[in-house]
Amino acid sequence: MRWTDVKAHLLAAGSARLTGEPAEQYIARSTAGPGAGGSGAIFFASGSHRVKFALNPAGTIEINHKGNGIADLHFEGTVISGNLLEPGLHCPEQAFITVTESCIFRCRYCSVPRLSGRRKTSEEIMAMVESARHRITSIAITSGVSGSIEEEEAYVLDVVQHLAVFGLPIGVSIYPTDQTPDRLKALGVVEVKFNIEAATPALFKEQCPGLDYDRLWCVLDRSVELFGKGRVFANVIIGLGETDEEMEACITKLTLHGVIPVLRPLNPVAELADRQRPTADRLKKLYVIHERALAAAGLDTGQALTMCTNCTGCDLVPGRDA
Ligand code: SF4
Repeated sequence: MRWTDVKAHLLAAGSARLTGEPAEQYIARSTAGPGAGGSGAIFFASGSHRVKFALNPAGTIEINHKGNGIADLHFEGTVISGNLLEPGLHCPEQAFITVTESCIFRCRYCSVPRLSGRRKTSEEIMAMVESARHRITSIAITSGVSGSIEEEEAYVLDVVQHLAVFGLPIGVSIYPTDQTPDRLKALGVVEVKFNIEAATPALFKEQCPGLDYDRLWCVLDRSVELFGKGRVFANVIIGLGETDEEMEACITKLTLHGVIPVLRPLNPVAELADRQRPTADRLKKLYVIHERALAAAGLDTGQALTMCTNCTGCDLVPGRDA
């Protein structure tokens, strides 16, 4: 079976049980994104490919750690040999930090508003990056919105200014103001991700009350002008109720605007805990559409230095998962 087919099945399952030798150093504990607050995750690599699993003692997929990071993945009667990846912070080779672990918004698929977490101080963030400095090649920052969009942006800008001292590529993904792309560019940020989340405006309105879909598109366009094609990304969740045709239209529109879509299989948590993850067949079908759209627009995922398109743990990424 090709890697893309295998990974589609693994992403459709989403979780795995970890057996064998102790593997604490390989477990990522995260407060980032819709799966925030879970019991941990593990990255399994096969050659240059990787996939991330939520840890689940009842998972049908087994990862057997044989020691020193060497591991076998057992999946539907197949055994894939590989290794576990040590996370930098949150994911391998990156310090990917959620600077504010709470949110005034209530996107229905996201756990962050329910975490009631706090904002990390700049000093804490600097210390976190310093602690991972020997195993990272880039830094990524994301955030909830603890007070107002403007106040959160100001805080993230301050954090980015502090982080410049490390001399590493920095990517930022926050809910933006109209000025966010210009302000991040002025600070030397190399890549940005502004998530449109849903394939259609109607689904976005249903899932993300209070957020502005049109503003996100304007900010994405400004970002492409500033950062260049292939340096701007947008998450779109697969499984919010969109049709394949609606998803294809969204993928095509993003790529024509110079934006690399990050197609994220729904992780059923928060208000969507009763939904199903998308099937492997659907993920494979959308992968083909995604691959074709990127090629037609001349967008290369291989150039990504930061965030999810660089990481590839949670998604099928044309050009990296081929
Ligand atoms: S793909 Fe994105 S969300 Fe998933 S582990 Fe990697 S950086 Fe985190």
